[in-house]
Amino acid sequence: PSITRGVTVEVPKVTWEDIGGLKELKKKLQQAVEWPIKHSDAFSRLGISPVRGILLHGPPGCSKTTLAKAAAHAAQAAFFSLSGAELYSMYVGEGEALLRNTFQRARLAAPSIIFFDEADVVATKRGDSSSNSATVGERLLSTLLTEIDGLEEAKGILVLAATNRPYAIDAALMRPGRFDLVLYVPPPDLEARYEILCVHTRNMKTASDVNLRRLAEDTELFTGAELEGLCREAGIVALREDISAAVVCDRHFQVVKDSVKPALTKAEID
Ligand code: ATP
Repeated sequence: PSITRGVTVEVPKVTWEDIGGLKELKKKLQQAVEWPIKHSDAFSRLGISPVRGILLHGPPGCSKTTLAKAAAHAAQAAFFSLSGAELYSMYVGEGEALLRNTFQRARLAAPSIIFFDEADVVATKRGDSSSNSATVGERLLSTLLTEIDGLEEAKGILVLAATNRPYAIDAALMRPGRFDLVLYVPPPDLEARYEILCVHTRNMKTASDVNLRRLAEDTELFTGAELEGLCREAGIVALREDISAAVVCDRHFQVVKDSVKPALTKAEID
């Protein structure tokens, strides 16, 4: 198998406006990502080192991946995506090779962002997993550390990692010069849910009885991914009812909303 398997290269099209809510977080990310990439000379002039790695943590489906893509878009950076779970499942040595290869390609393509999803699978605290898997994880982790440390001289490369188990991340990754910035990506609050619903209905023809404010109030435990699914499904329900339907009505949203069992629990959002 090719060692480039599982790596995608592109400047993503997603923008900050495609992400509902998270205003402050977007601002922080924008600074941390765009400044070092766009103004790397200013950093060297002042003798300050930019953030090299950012850890995004929070429940699944709440836009960690989308934020990383939007950051890459804003900085017009090539986007390399790696998955901890995928690396972990590869043959001996193949995962390390893919890691090294991805960093190498990111260097050549700079400015670049390397997005590392499910980081905890690889970057688990040493000694946390069973003896056999620990060796696989440890080798991947030490390769990752070597590559991140090697970015010191490289300009315009940033590693964004995502996890929903931040407590499982090995302390070695959290040292200065590695993941210097840790950002929590929370589930959407009322205002964010409203904005997410706006984003995902903006290209839909909706009837005048559709009230996104009320829908946001009625979807308390929904993640961004579930809200996106709700909008899409409502459209499908409308079509199923009448294949020549011109608009999606409130009742279509209601039917879908009532059928969704949110993955988040009340305890997780408080
Ligand atoms: P996972 O941990 O499962 O990888 P994630 O946190 O990376 O999830 P994403 O993959 O970014 O989440 O989001 C899943 C989908 O939900 C995306 O298609 C995205 O469009 C939508 N979504 C999530 N949050 C938002 C948001 N705040 N605004 C708009 N869309 C959102």
